Amino acid sequence: MNLSEPYSKNSTFDQELKIAGISARDLAAQFGTPLFVIDQEDFMLRAAAWREALTFHFGAQAGQVYYAGKSFLNREVARWVDASGIGLDVCSGGEMAVAASVGFPAERMELHGNNKSESEIQSAIASGIGTIVMDSFHEIERVAKFAQESGKIQRVYLRLTAGVEAHTHEFISTAHEDQKFGFSIASGSAWRAVEATLSHASLNLVGFHSHIGSQILINDGFEMAATRLIELLAKYRDHFDRELPELDLGGGYGIAYLPGESGLIPTEVIGAIASVVKSECAKHNLHLPKISIEPGRHIVGPTTTTIYEVGTTKSVELERGETRRYLSIDGGMSDNIRPSLYGAEYTALLANRLSHEPTVNSRIVGKHCETGDIVIREIDLPQDIAPGDLIAVPVTGAYGRSMASNYNHIPRPAVVAVRDGQARLITRRESINDLLALDI
Ligand SMILES: *Cc1c(COP(=O)(O)O)cnc(C)c1O
Repeated sequence: MNLSEPYSKNSTFDQELKIAGISARDLAAQFGTPLFVIDQEDFMLRAAAWREALTFHFGAQAGQVYYAGKSFLNREVARWVDASGIGLDVCSGGEMAVAASVGFPAERMELHGNNKSESEIQSAIASGIGTIVMDSFHEIERVAKFAQESGKIQRVYLRLTAGVEAHTHEFISTAHEDQKFGFSIASGSAWRAVEATLSHASLNLVGFHSHIGSQILINDGFEMAATRLIELLAKYRDHFDRELPELDLGGGYGIAYLPGESGLIPTEVIGAIASVVKSECAKHNLHLPKISIEPGRHIVGPTTTTIYEVGTTKSVELERGETRRYLSIDGGMSDNIRPSLYGAEYTALLANRLSHEPTVNSRIVGKHCETGDIVIREIDLPQDIAPGDLIAVPVTGAYGRSMASNYNHIPRPAVVAVRDGQARLITRRESINDLLALDI
């Protein structure tokens, strides 16, 4: 049978888990565990869904869909993003280097970051990067200087904090945004940033950018941010008697992690944003700006499943005579920091066989020297799970491998792309020698 959300599109379970027709058992045997398995078709369809939603709702004013590379980027994924015809959002020299190494067109890229180094800014400008999203007054001066030195007029956005901070299920609106990103609209620093940018002939201010948060499951936050940015577009028009042509509304579109949850649907959320953008622009008598977005998690998160092998099991007495069975897997917080970092929740299944045994209250833990090294705090799984069994954790594509560490000198896992019954290694497993090579 096909597994529905939160599993990737081509995940099936019939006696065992298969992804794109390949069994978890075969994948583990061929590539080892822990293993990130990415469903290539799912990735391409998700990228296309955002592109289509933007085009459908904004027509000629559809800007770029920038895949947020920080969610997961390697050279093969950069090729997929290029083949999808969408853009790429990068926020470091390393991410730029991955893109450059596969010939990703620089004009379809956008550079983010609250502390881009001088060399990152220089190489971005030299490469012909499409847009730099400027985040501080120091940076306005740096970008202007390097653009001028290389004889270029650099397209730039200003990153603004719209006073909307969106969390998973609610958003709060504050006048003072106590965080490191962007220029605050409410405090007037956004307007001073506009003036500072316009004072440089080497900068071409094309619009405003806002990114309100991540794993957002309701539309209101995006709508409110768009409303605030459009007010500023109107102020700009009133003041300078011309209009800024673009807005970039960032990423943050939420996905399902657990059974029964549902993620945002691209055409629905973009439709909601479009109606607010259109009515606000009409209200201020503005032309419709070109709208760009930056989904990361929503494109890559659901495409990937981590396969772990169980090493030990242990039964622990709780209060009231209950017990909890601990399943220790061969990875943990070094390949998925999200549960320890944000209390993120995941589901899991026994991947290599079908068990009809009753389930028991279980906790899936990693192999690191840390009590908080928990992958799943509480889940019911068959009582006969034993060392050597495989556990699959879906929806690990975003901020999994990309946030992986070498804690305890554990090499980071490999990434395998699957499609139509074929599996291909796209990032090899790190070796102990890779780690030793760093020490002098
Ligand atoms: C993190 C980030 C994104 C992507 O966020 P997701 O939640 O993965 O969609 C997009 N834009 C900016 C500026 C970001 O910082």
